[in-house]
Amino acid sequence: METTSPIDLQKERKLILKEYRNLLRGLRNNMTAAERKQIRLAFEMAVDAHKEMRRKSGEPYIIHPLRVAQIVVNEMGLGATAAICALLHDVVEDTELTLDDIKREFGIKVMKIIDGLTKVSGVFDLTSSIQAENFKKLLLTLADDVRVILIKIADRLHNMRTMDSMPRKKQLKIASETLYLYAPLAHRLGFYAIKSELEDLGMKYTESEAYKDIAKRLAETKRERSRYMNEFMKPIRERLEKDGFHFEMYGRPKSIYSIYNKIKNKGVSFDEVYDLFAIRVIIDTPFDHEKADCWRVYSTVTELYHPNPDRLRDWISSPKSNGYESLHTTVMGPKGRWVEVQIRTKRMDEIAEKGFAAHWKYKEGSNDKALDTWLREIRELLRNPEFNALEFMDDFRLNLFNKEIYVFTPKGELKIIPQGATALDFAFEIHTAVGYHCIGAKVNHRLVPLSHRLSNGDQVEIITSKKQKPNEDWLNFLVTSRARSKVKNALKEEKRAIAAEGRIILEKKLKSHKAELFDRNLQLLMEFYHQPTSLELCYRIGTKDIALKELKDFGVDQGKLIPPSKDKQKPVDLAKLEKLATSNAELLIFDNALDDIKYSLAKCCNPIVGDDVFGFITINEGIKIHKTSCPNATEMMSKYGYRIVRTRWTQHKDIAFLTGVKVTGLDDVGLVNKVTNIISGEMRLNMQSLLMDAKDGVFEGTIKVFVKNTDELDKLMNKLRTMKGVISVTRLETT
Ligand code: MN
Repeated sequence: METTSPIDLQKERKLILKEYRNLLRGLRNNMTAAERKQIRLAFEMAVDAHKEMRRKSGEPYIIHPLRVAQIVVNEMGLGATAAICALLHDVVEDTELTLDDIKREFGIKVMKIIDGLTKVSGVFDLTSSIQAENFKKLLLTLADDVRVILIKIADRLHNMRTMDSMPRKKQLKIASETLYLYAPLAHRLGFYAIKSELEDLGMKYTESEAYKDIAKRLAETKRERSRYMNEFMKPIRERLEKDGFHFEMYGRPKSIYSIYNKIKNKGVSFDEVYDLFAIRVIIDTPFDHEKADCWRVYSTVTELYHPNPDRLRDWISSPKSNGYESLHTTVMGPKGRWVEVQIRTKRMDEIAEKGFAAHWKYKEGSNDKALDTWLREIRELLRNPEFNALEFMDDFRLNLFNKEIYVFTPKGELKIIPQGATALDFAFEIHTAVGYHCIGAKVNHRLVPLSHRLSNGDQVEIITSKKQKPNEDWLNFLVTSRARSKVKNALKEEKRAIAAEGRIILEKKLKSHKAELFDRNLQLLMEFYHQPTSLELCYRIGTKDIALKELKDFGVDQGKLIPPSKDKQKPVDLAKLEKLATSNAELLIFDNALDDIKYSLAKCCNPIVGDDVFGFITINEGIKIHKTSCPNATEMMSKYGYRIVRTRWTQHKDIAFLTGVKVTGLDDVGLVNKVTNIISGEMRLNMQSLLMDAKDGVFEGTIKVFVKNTDELDKLMNKLRTMKGVISVTRLETT
């Protein structure tokens, strides 16, 4: 916000010192006198280096590194070294200080972490190939010193907390990246509180309406809920006190993001999400009594309230691979409502909240083999010269959120693998060579095929043959990123030779067109021929599947290819569009001034006037307009940020959009009539089609109708909702 009064420097200095003291307070039991000096030095260096800089909000820049350091210390439980690095995390990139300066003052370790932080800055910037390289760097630093990634997550968290004064386009991009990568990473590293906050903040920007709506409803029902929770907890509290437990117990609302996902995935309304909160019981007990005491609490709770046998989760006997330990049960509370109860010790709670760092702290006492294994696997994957970062990024990301199951080797050794993993995944888990030559498996002494999905508690014996080798089919059922990338790499070996030949052919042909074989052109041809990777493109050229005949239709400008247009009247001016994306300009839909820019509405989400939208530059079809809540939006924005165009609707245009509405309700004879009456009669809308399907007394109707904007659509949907017998009314994404 602009302010006309001069900046009160005195006041700012006070604020900065206050933040600094807050940081020291968090570290007080956790630092030596020497470290205290170093922190002071880091603080002074950062203040000096950033002294001319301000954030978009107008506050002094130094507040940012101070807050990041506080997150690292207070919310992640890291120590002095991490705090020093957090204070200095932006100086090498944004100021005149160099890595040598850092090394001189703080030594090699701090220098290396800062170097890592600087290298992975802007992981998703520019083109996708640079992005992939950056992702590889990010993983390398992760495997090198986990603190780099932890500080990166803290940096992201503070940026997300303070994003209000950013331009909308940036907010969307940052929020999407956060949901795409940072929240899953935080989850994988065991920072549950941070993961939930990142998700909530991400949703606040990508789906602001839904976010505000749920936040409002949560606030409205807060009193009623806390009354209910107290009533629920009272008898448990009395019993645990009588039994002499030292404990803490409180109710926690579920995150907005998780409530929203439940509503979306299960197609229920807010009122129908019954488990809006969980009760947590944290007991204080010595390490060797932990397990027995947690189960004692469990039996107390389930004596008072009846448990749902399907909802017992015992992560104490077998902790999750990110270190999470806890006992979860869902019981029937008063008034017939299900309540989730989480039982854990103080030690387990600290691990659950502070993840990785707390995990190291308690290293002796707990099983962190799984985490070590994970980091070792990443290192191993990265060492592979065939590693394709972009491809791996997707597999890796999916794996971050996987649920886990526990299976055993014939010798009784426990292995943690993702839910849904197959016998073949397990073979790769044992050894790459075992995977390559696997022909089948025995699960609990029964012969099964490679694609057999394993279940919790299975005992698995792998059968191999020297003659076996990886084939393309395997990728249809393999689940773990480790196995998938091993197989892909093996398959690529033979492809690679052919692709190398193809590349030479391509280079020759481009030369004869006065065009060059650089990244942009390669990208363009990949999209033109619908090839997902450059390897694939060159491979198909090598096999003569792609004969490059179309190359003669391309224009060339200073070595750059210009794609031929499918639409002869209005050729797509790619250079102009790319400029639009980088200039931060705004595209106004249905504005005459922009008549020469080709755009269309995306079919995957069917935006209509009033929806929150953005433009996405495509090679052949100009700009496509998507809803920010489009299922593909997160991926587009985080992977191809450089192609996003800020977009807004111009108002007052009499254009109608085809959109779809789904209505379910109890079957009623006159219903079709009543629905058409509302649409054509009362609201005077044009209906394109109405499909009604009734089964077992429940009908499901799909209505396709033309509306002017979201207001009109909302009005229609609200009208339909008030009809007798109607259970739910939802908008259809596709028509
Ligand atoms: Mn920063």
